[in-house]
Amino acid sequence: MARLPDKPDLDWKDDGTPVSRVFDDVYFSLSDGLEETRSVFLKPCGLPERWNDRKSFTVAELGFGSGLNFLGLLDLWLNSDRQLDAWLHFVSVEKFLMSAEDAAKVVGRWNGIRAEDLISRWPVRTRGLQRIVFEEFNVTLTLYVGDVREWLISHDFKADAWFLDGFAPAKNDSMWAESVFESIASHSAEGCRIGTYTVAGAVRRGIAAAGFEVSKAEGFGRKRERLEAVWRGSTRTSSEPDIYLTSVRPDRPANVTVIGAGIAGASVARSFAARGVPVRVVDQADGPACGASGNPMALIMPRLDAGDTPQARFLVQSYLFALSFYQVLAPDGIKPVDVDQIAQSENELKRFGKLVVDPPLDESWLSGEVSSDQAVLTHRNAGLIYPKAIVTSLLDHPLISMEYEKSISDINASIERSDKETLFVIAAGQSSKQILSDMRLPLSGKMGQVEFGTISESGNLSAQASGTYAFRDGSDILFGATFEDISDDHTPDVSSAARAENLEGLRKLGPDWVDKLNPETLLSRASVRSTTPDRFPVMGPAFSVSEVSEVLAPIRTGARVIESVPSNPNLFVVTGLGSRGFTFAPLLAETLVSLALDAPSPLARSELELIAPVRFLIRAMRRGQA
Ligand code: SAM
Repeated sequence: MARLPDKPDLDWKDDGTPVSRVFDDVYFSLSDGLEETRSVFLKPCGLPERWNDRKSFTVAELGFGSGLNFLGLLDLWLNSDRQLDAWLHFVSVEKFLMSAEDAAKVVGRWNGIRAEDLISRWPVRTRGLQRIVFEEFNVTLTLYVGDVREWLISHDFKADAWFLDGFAPAKNDSMWAESVFESIASHSAEGCRIGTYTVAGAVRRGIAAAGFEVSKAEGFGRKRERLEAVWRGSTRTSSEPDIYLTSVRPDRPANVTVIGAGIAGASVARSFAARGVPVRVVDQADGPACGASGNPMALIMPRLDAGDTPQARFLVQSYLFALSFYQVLAPDGIKPVDVDQIAQSENELKRFGKLVVDPPLDESWLSGEVSSDQAVLTHRNAGLIYPKAIVTSLLDHPLISMEYEKSISDINASIERSDKETLFVIAAGQSSKQILSDMRLPLSGKMGQVEFGTISESGNLSAQASGTYAFRDGSDILFGATFEDISDDHTPDVSSAARAENLEGLRKLGPDWVDKLNPETLLSRASVRSTTPDRFPVMGPAFSVSEVSEVLAPIRTGARVIESVPSNPNLFVVTGLGSRGFTFAPLLAETLVSLALDAPSPLARSELELIAPVRFLIRAMRRGQA
């Protein structure tokens, strides 16, 4: 199976309604698609009344198509009585993602709905989950691009309403399979309701067998009848013990204290504040972005893996989410740039070759040239960023307050004194290890030095990478970085050896730039990046290794763990972002906020396990090393 998802094969009716050639069916009623959304999905699911007294409401859909159901729902959300700080979450699946242009053609036919807002943030053609946050509407859209079965077995969430909108059951059986109805039940919250346009016997029986009370009602347009259903069961919880702590949901916090004013802390703070939760940000330094997040310029470019794995998906998702997060919330801190990445080893040459043949992103994001001894990938529309501007913009929110120059002992004392109303988030890079010493996180500090200054020629934005990187904006240039071990009791310092190494790197990446450097303008900056042994970041609840080891002990002998792992649900950690802090931070923050505020996770279960802090202990126990 190719990594790039298939496109739909579309035909068009005279009035502009899309028709699938593969399924030989229309996307919605020829009478009026938007009115159909209202009468077949919104009303039967009890909307808008059911969200009136809720802080968080989740609607799930089978078949995203043109996004018309989403836009109909959004329109109702924006025009209904609801609590001011309430959020609507829409989760959906689409195997054949339309292009933004086709979708615009479809939904642009209706006036008054927010078609342009959706089209300008249209999902990217890549496999797996994508989260789009509409902060201005208090709405998130989470789309799984891929097959419905894959989605339902890999993504945990509970829906308050389901819109079943596959093509006609006789033509699209995978969307109406018995296993799908079973999964709908396990993804339903108490009182969940279903709306669908079909009354096919198999659908009626399938929904009823899964535990819903089903009834028929008057249909829309040319359809005589439709179905609606109410979940009579109670919310199902997994019978499997939670050993990775991926389902720990902190109590909804009245306020949040974030330790660390770098990009991880700023992203967490901003994401909570956007949801109406007041945040206090505390740092040892005398201002924001003083550590690893403080270089004058930086690049956001993806690390792409050759296979379609949870790791590969997490890397692409974080990259796409970070770009849109900054474009929306800190537009002055990011510029699109094409980055040429040159293979630096035999292994990389092979990996780039595979990526060019079977890319995870389409040509608007990625292209490449590969020969037997050289390979170059071009990452289109990657991000050249101004870190301080970004961190400052993120923290500039009426619900965020800052406290600087706090010592680690002050911080520890305030965690000890904490009440249950406050969620603490430790986002303190390498210091997180010391603050959360009971977790024994295997974080190691890597010192990175970069050089920046000007060159005697002004030019367009341009960037190259090959292990190290070099880029320029006008006549400003930045290149580096080194990657050296540094122990926790050492403060980072610039060195002439590191500068020589960086100049050597620049000679390979941009020989012209070396000759044009203005040496008197050149400055160095060194900082410590907190890294993990597997180079994936850490996000999850705090625990104590000694307590957790007892519960996980069966792992040592290959036996089954029978209890969930104990943790502190009001103390979370986000760290180990390595040299990809600006790429990872926004999606980690979004994941944490979703857990805390009872929203669907933007990550699949396997991706949550990849970043779970307890993974190192589990691996060590499996190897007999803990
Ligand atoms: N709700 C859509 C809208 O508002 O435009 C219309 C949905 S259309 C009737 C059905 C959708 O289901 C199509 O977009 C189709 O590509 C998608 N689909 C069909 N089979 C699928 C599968 N196995 N997994 C995921 N999506 C599928």
